[in-house]
Amino acid sequence: MKIEEAKRLSKLPTYVFAVLDKLKAEERAKGKELIDLTIGSPSHLPPKEVIDAHIQALSDPASHKYSSFEGDPAFTEAVCQWCKRQYGIHVHKDEVVTLVGSKEGLAHFYLAYLDPGDTLLVPLPMYPSHFRGPVLAGAEPVILPTVEKNGFLPELDIVDKSIADKAKIISLSYPTNPTAATAPPEFFEKAVHFAKKHNLILVHDFAYAELYFEGKKPVSCLSVPGAKDVCIEFHSLSKTFGMAGWRLGFAVGNKQLVNALKTIKTNLDYGPFAATVKAGVTALKMKNGYFENMRKAYQKKRDIAVDGLTSLGWKLKKPLATFYLWVPVPSGFNAMTFVEHLIHKADVAVSPGIGFGDLGEGYVRIALVDSDERIRDAIARMKKAGIRYNG
Ligand SMILES: *Cc1c(COP(=O)(O)O)cnc(C)c1O
Repeated sequence: MKIEEAKRLSKLPTYVFAVLDKLKAEERAKGKELIDLTIGSPSHLPPKEVIDAHIQALSDPASHKYSSFEGDPAFTEAVCQWCKRQYGIHVHKDEVVTLVGSKEGLAHFYLAYLDPGDTLLVPLPMYPSHFRGPVLAGAEPVILPTVEKNGFLPELDIVDKSIADKAKIISLSYPTNPTAATAPPEFFEKAVHFAKKHNLILVHDFAYAELYFEGKKPVSCLSVPGAKDVCIEFHSLSKTFGMAGWRLGFAVGNKQLVNALKTIKTNLDYGPFAATVKAGVTALKMKNGYFENMRKAYQKKRDIAVDGLTSLGWKLKKPLATFYLWVPVPSGFNAMTFVEHLIHKADVAVSPGIGFGDLGEGYVRIALVDSDERIRDAIARMKKAGIRYNG
């Protein structure tokens, strides 16, 4: 066929994860049974209360109609209560937009605020939607490099003034996927100040808000006084409640920013399935015990994996949030060749760091969402294959 795709598609960087999928499929076709630690998709069931609420909502004819653009008032109210209870932040009901997962919300937010030729500031390594979404909108991401030595925080003080003034948005996400980095409250204060000084929108992706360890609870960017003048924060039920396939999230913050996202969405979708939203209300009202158990379970996986990799020569700090490990590759490998080596020799699949931007070269991301036994088994397979970190 001679019809060309829109240019915006050709501008997207190669999707490393598609290459990875092919690699996994080839190995499986050879009859290999892989331990797949590539994707950050929780394997625990959502709380029983949430599943029951969903089943109950299925029998209500209202659930099967088009949802209203304004969203379910019960969910909006539950979001306001949740934000107060979990992060001590006050959001009004017209400062909330319900999303078909936060990935959808992020991509559409960038479409709402970025024209072709616009720029935005994005720290790398970062969750791909923060550079691929803007590219789809025709905009150009300006990379703020982050490195381990600085805790994977961008150095805002050294960003060129003309670059910061020209940009429209700065996108942040702490705790971070893929590096598992966290940011102290002072960093968010600095970021809000920076955004105001350069007239930038501050996007904060808070997908791992509840996935923290050792009592080190991450702060919401909106907890900085005055943040609501410039900030929109994206939340997801996927990781917190094991609901990744359900597609439910929300964004809160500056009303004008929320409204622009609503306007875009009005033209593209009707929001999530109403029964899912009803179950989401139940999720946001879960008692603290649920979250504590969930964190304990992930902390155990973290400890098994870090201790295991330490026994193979790696020197890793235990991350204080997320269910990822950001692991340097042994010398003689790059990210992709180490991924291939692991798959071929140990039947273990992990993600190449370059999928999260060029600065992810030299690292792989290991997602710790499978059972404790499988994680132990992955380490045992690596050991058996003679894989070690040699500096
Ligand atoms: C998983 C993830 C998302 C997407 O979550 P959904 O709500 O399922 O779309 C967004 N941001 C980060 C950093 C993530 O890891």
